[in-house]
Amino acid sequence: MAKKITKSQLETLEHQREQVKTELENLRKELRAEIEFDDVDDVASDLVERDKIQAMIITFERKLDDINHAIQQAEVMGYGICEMCGNTIDPERLEIFPETTLCINCKRQAERRGRMQQM
Ligand SMILES: [Zn+2]
Repeated sequence: MAKKITKSQLETLEHQREQVKTELENLRKELRAEIEFDDVDDVASDLVERDKIQAMIITFERKLDDINHAIQQAEVMGYGICEMCGNTIDPERLEIFPETTLCINCKRQAERRGRMQQM
């Protein structure tokens, strides 16, 4: 049975989405600043810093995608339903990762597959 997303669950997701967007804006600004005010004396540490910011941007972009996906998915299948196996996702897990659309078992499987694709 599809579970309709409650108003507070949707608010949690939307709130999170706003936070991630703000975070992304800040990181992009930071990255631009790193590039513009290049410190010639300290190129190596600048590059490390830039890599770090870029990695964080990618992480947050993924999170933003996940949140958008979870909101869409909630409208289609219901919130808290695993999109792979259709089981209910552990509420505790949803509380920690409101943007998740996979139960823990499917998530582990997906991660294993993801690692294999990377190799
Ligand atoms: Zn599942």
